[in-house]
Amino acid sequence: MKANYQHILEELYHVIKVIPDGGQVAPYIPELAEIDPNKFGVHLATTMGEQFGYGDHEEKFSIQSIGKVLSLTLAFQQKGEALWERVGVEPSGNPFNSLWQLEYEKGKPRNPLINSGAIVICDILCTLFDDPLHDLLAFIRKISGNAEINYNDEVAASEKKLGFRNAALINLMKSCHNIDNEIDEVMDLYYHMCSVEMSCTELANTFLVYANHGKIVSTGESVITSSMAKRINAIMQTCGFYDEAGEYTFKVGLPGKSGIGGGIVAIHPGNYAVAVWSPKLNKKGNSVKGMQLLEILTTKTGLSIF
Ligand code: GLU
Repeated sequence: MKANYQHILEELYHVIKVIPDGGQVAPYIPELAEIDPNKFGVHLATTMGEQFGYGDHEEKFSIQSIGKVLSLTLAFQQKGEALWERVGVEPSGNPFNSLWQLEYEKGKPRNPLINSGAIVICDILCTLFDDPLHDLLAFIRKISGNAEINYNDEVAASEKKLGFRNAALINLMKSCHNIDNEIDEVMDLYYHMCSVEMSCTELANTFLVYANHGKIVSTGESVITSSMAKRINAIMQTCGFYDEAGEYTFKVGLPGKSGIGGGIVAIHPGNYAVAVWSPKLNKKGNSVKGMQLLEILTTKTGLSIF
């Protein structure tokens, strides 16, 4: 049965819009803290090319940690299985910027979606490319089919200025010989990756590649093998929601990734990618309304991977 996604999204939007959420907009940097907390948008794109959106779905926001999936994809495409010598694939069960586990595990991050893991991925990209900032952006533009996608330099600079814990993470990893390049160069790439801006429409269409077994829907070009897409989806499922990955899987049942800008993107393999944006976050750093919407979406459509 073909789901009437437009009708479902509009209905869910109105139901969830009025639920008091009690969350808080990310306070870390002024650029995020000043976002209107009432923004709310959703967009669903299918592998057949259909588009459904509602609310503030055309407005750009900071994708933050969601960008970690994109940098991981480029590094995995280039390095293959050798990538896992530098970073693991286990959920961390700890906050995204936790230090103690990293020390205990001698500088090898639990997975590529916590900050330490994403920083190692950026180090790998700095080794692979002469101009990693350019090549990462070119890769993101390619899979999104959108040459307008860009970094936000002010957001990147602001985060770099205030990123004391991330500085601690990279210094700890450097002391454990798991960072090869200059700290400043790696962190510059890391913060730019986090500063990428997309709307829900752009985000859903970018992540369609993971729903389409590694092939760009609009061109048919394969950017990663279907086995690689499967592995990245598995990492999103188990590690994509900070230390709330279990709760998210329990409620939503789709591979996905959230960011502290209030975005969440989730995919149903072979079927669709859906992006939600609502800036108020719960205590674990995930968008309150985003989680609610995805939970009801998979319940209503009966479409989850479980
Ligand atoms: N740029 C953020 C940081 O490094 C990313 C956090 C996130 O979205 O999880 O702290």
